[in-house]
Amino acid sequence: MFKLVEIDQDEEKKVMQHIAFVVFITLMAGIMYASVFEWLFHRYVMHRPLGTFRYPFEAHTLMHHRVFKADHTYHVQHEEDKKKIPMAWWNGPVLIIVGTVPFRVKETFGLLIPRYCGLYTS
Ligand SMILES: [Zn+2]
Repeated sequence: MFKLVEIDQDEEKKVMQHIAFVVFITLMAGIMYASVFEWLFHRYVMHRPLGTFRYPFEAHTLMHHRVFKADHTYHVQHEEDKKKIPMAWWNGPVLIIVGTVPFRVKETFGLLIPRYCGLYTS
């Protein structure tokens, strides 16, 4: 399946630098994507009702921001408010699923389009 190829140290160093560069660029792109996704999701889903789907708006804007605002109350002022910081346990997995939709769509269509065009022969 895999064929081992001998390379000299200079070539190995170039390969490692290339891998490090790709990892770095991927990490930076991922951080930028996550920041933009979080900002868009926060602004357009959590801060306004989405038709009849009102859970994010009610849980975030009406509950969370009633206590935590963009002033000195951004930080916990009262011990009992600590309970109003965390999200429901299932919000994390749902956010990951929603946030990775563009990648899953690209992966699906990226595999399907060449297959339909006859580029894969398996
Ligand atoms: Zn907010």
